[in-house]
Amino acid sequence: MADEHAVVMTPDQLESLVKAARAPIVDEAALRSKEQSRLRLREKIAKKARNEEVKYKACGHLREDNTSRIAWMTNSDGIRRGVCQFCNMTCGPDHPEYDRLIRIPTRAPHIIG
Ligand SMILES: [Zn+2]
Repeated sequence: MADEHAVVMTPDQLESLVKAARAPIVDEAALRSKEQSRLRLREKIAKKARNEEVKYKACGHLREDNTSRIAWMTNSDGIRRGVCQFCNMTCGPDHPEYDRLIRIPTRAPHIIG
């Protein structure tokens, strides 16, 4: 005996119904705000990078008394490397001015000894 309430569909209709049911629900507004916050973050990072670059270029890694702002450390490989306490530049043997920068005293002569 046939069920009068049965829904009769062609295979094509059934397929599109299944596809629609499986499709993820896309929240357009959420996607837009996600995209916007990503753009804002990217802008913020770019701005920070620009600031760091300006700071690095303006920085002579020297204090007003011409002592070096670079904090030097001898690493486990026995090589001295430094970080400028002002612009965060790292200075190792691969730095073009390593030989010059490493000779600049980090303290004024009258403080030493
Ligand atoms: Zn510096």
